[in-house]
Amino acid sequence: MLSPLRLYDNFTRTLRAFEPLKPGGEVGLYTCGPTVYDYQHIGNYRTFLFEDLLKRALEWNGCRVRHVMNITDVGHLTSDADTGEDKMEKGARRTGKSAWEIAQLYTGAFLADMKALNMEAPSVLCRATDHIAEQIAFIADIEKNGFTYRTSDGIYFDTSKQPDYGYLARLDVKGQEAGKRVDVGEKRNPTDFALWKFSAPGEKRQMEWDSPWGRGFPGWHIECSAMAQKYLGDYFDIHCGGEDHIPVHHTNEIAQTEARVGTRLANFWMHGYFLLSNDAKMAKSAGEFLRLAYLVERGYDPLAYRYLCLTAHYRGQLNFTFEALDAAAVALERMRQGVYALRKADDALRSAESEEDGGQPDPALMERFTSEINNDLNVPRALAVAWETLRGDSPPAGRCATLLRFDEIFGLKLADWVPKNETAPDAVVALAEARVRARRSKAWPEADRLRAELHAAGWEMEDRPDGYALKRK
Ligand code: AMP
Ligand code: ZN
Repeated sequence: MLSPLRLYDNFTRTLRAFEPLKPGGEVGLYTCGPTVYDYQHIGNYRTFLFEDLLKRALEWNGCRVRHVMNITDVGHLTSDADTGEDKMEKGARRTGKSAWEIAQLYTGAFLADMKALNMEAPSVLCRATDHIAEQIAFIADIEKNGFTYRTSDGIYFDTSKQPDYGYLARLDVKGQEAGKRVDVGEKRNPTDFALWKFSAPGEKRQMEWDSPWGRGFPGWHIECSAMAQKYLGDYFDIHCGGEDHIPVHHTNEIAQTEARVGTRLANFWMHGYFLLSNDAKMAKSAGEFLRLAYLVERGYDPLAYRYLCLTAHYRGQLNFTFEALDAAAVALERMRQGVYALRKADDALRSAESEEDGGQPDPALMERFTSEINNDLNVPRALAVAWETLRGDSPPAGRCATLLRFDEIFGLKLADWVPKNETAPDAVVALAEARVRARRSKAWPEADRLRAELHAAGWEMEDRPDGYALKRK
């Protein structure tokens, strides 16, 4: 390949050529997944979309990717400093459901949103609560290696035992130590963190387990070290998450793995930068946050949000506004229409000349596109190459084939799109109209029946913000 893949590694703080650790083998990718005590907000999805683009870029470069994502369903406390309540137990109180029920509910909602945003499913999706034994074994080894101590509320990691602790975030550990700005309680050092927390005396938690140290639950960070090692080995290619994970969560994952097996877990550490709202951090804990479902209710296609995320480089923050989302929706619609027009023009040409019209991706454009993607995922510039392709004047089949290849990275489903009611027969349109009326009057069983009838007639109905579209199945 003319432009080898280069990625920005936050550990070394450099742009480095990406070489798989196992040449010819699978690339190991671990991405920190959602904490399922509530719905995810669109900020979370910006990070997951960056990770989806990264995975597609690796595939674009011929790699097979083993992607592992965890579901945090226990142990993430309301404060990253190991104080406060477990977010799951708090979420259970808020909703009146059990912690197990909300884990299931919000995991399901997350997976549905992932699909709506056309993200590729991970190879392994693993829950923290299904890996308690692995986490206990991990902590036991860290203890054996002399990195732990006990307080009245848990087993802690002694960060002073690791000279390079905090390197990922370039933490000023000594400064924190000297200042002692934070109340460290029984902790020996401000940066020490919990590996295992004891259930409070007299408290009956919904999620708790026996361990060699007493009944309780794992700290938040240990799940990722344990599951990453189980599914990807001691040292794998890339570890990702949002930028907020750099100073605490990822720093502590590295500390734990280093204490157990002596590696820094991953060769590359990559982070998606935040989506802001009114120039402030968008956070679930802030109470008010934007969900994907809310955008859909307001008539937006989830892929318009995906397009919006493509317009900004993952290593810069992005301020969300509805004006920007409107612009993304318009651009997406134009791109879809453009690709559709190329497909139709090509069909017409083929039937007029009754011969095959090549339809191969343009090598020069492919190379330019690849060099943008391989330059640390410069997707905004890759999008510009796509627009140039769309507006070019070479034969439509070639341009169409080029754009459909580009869409393997963008994930905008350009090949699937058809304009509203393309060439549906009157009877099919009548069924669709009847279904619209049924939906408007909230007659859901009738609407479902009409959808089934459309299916039986060989048509798919897609609900759109401005009505619907009919597609042949
Ligand atoms: P959580 O469900 O809180 O564990 O977060 C899931 C993912 O979203 C993590 O990788 C976070 O780092 C990331 N994240 C949280 N808030 C934002 C935000 N405002 N913008 C982008 N990513 C975020
Ligand atoms: Zn993690």
